[in-house]
Amino acid sequence: MLSVSVTWMLVIGASIIAIIAQFRVMGAFKRFGQVRTMRGLTGAEVAKQILRDVGITDVEIERTDSWLGDHYDPTKKVLCLSPGVFDSDSVSAVGIAAHECGHAIQHKNAYWPLQVRMTVVPVTMIASQLLPLVMIGGFWFHMMGFITLGIFVYAILTVFQLITLPVEFDASLRAKLILRESGVVMADEADGVNKVLNAAAWTYVAAFLSALTHLLHLLAIRDSRD
Ligand SMILES: [Zn+2]
Repeated sequence: MLSVSVTWMLVIGASIIAIIAQFRVMGAFKRFGQVRTMRGLTGAEVAKQILRDVGITDVEIERTDSWLGDHYDPTKKVLCLSPGVFDSDSVSAVGIAAHECGHAIQHKNAYWPLQVRMTVVPVTMIASQLLPLVMIGGFWFHMMGFITLGIFVYAILTVFQLITLPVEFDASLRAKLILRESGVVMADEADGVNKVLNAAAWTYVAAFLSALTHLLHLLAIRDSRD
C-alpha cells in the first residue's frame, strides 16, 4: 500500500491538474467566444436545429443565468444554456450547445453510461453533502470514524466521476460530428470547437483524478493507523 506522504503528493498533483484544466477551459472558451461562425447561428438556434434533425421534440431549451452553467437535465428533459452560449454565434457557443445536445441524444438512445450516471446521481449528492465532515474529521483530525466515512464518500465520488468520463467524451464526439456534417461549422472553425470541447474534457479527467487520489489518501491514512 502507498504511504501517506506519497498519496498526499498525488492529491496535490491532481489539484494542480484540476487548476490548470480550469484555466485552459476558461481560456479556450474566451478565445473562441470571440470567433464568430460563418453560418451565424446562435447556440440556441444550433441546439434547436440539432434536436429537430434527430427527432427530439420533448426537450425544452432554456436560458440559465450561470456562467458556463450549460447542462442537459435528463430528469426534466431541459437543455440549459448560459447567456454566453444561448445568444452567441461564436465557435465556443455552437460547440457547447452541440455538446449538450449530445447528452439529449444519449438520453433518447438510452446510452448505458448515461443511464448508470443518472442512477448514481442521488447517492452522489448525499455523499457530496458529507464532504465537509470528512474534510475536518478525516483529513484534518484523522478521526477513525470520519476516515471510514470518507472512504465510502470518495469511493462513491470516484465511481461517479469515472462513469462521467464516457458520458462526456461521447457527447463531445457526437457534437463534433454533427456540427461538421450539418455544416453549422466550417473546417477551420471545427478546429476551434475541438479545442474548446477537449479543454472541457480535461476538467472531467481532473475531477476523476481528484476523487481517486483523495480516496487513496484516506486508505493510506487508515492503514498507517493499524
Ligand atoms: Zn457534458
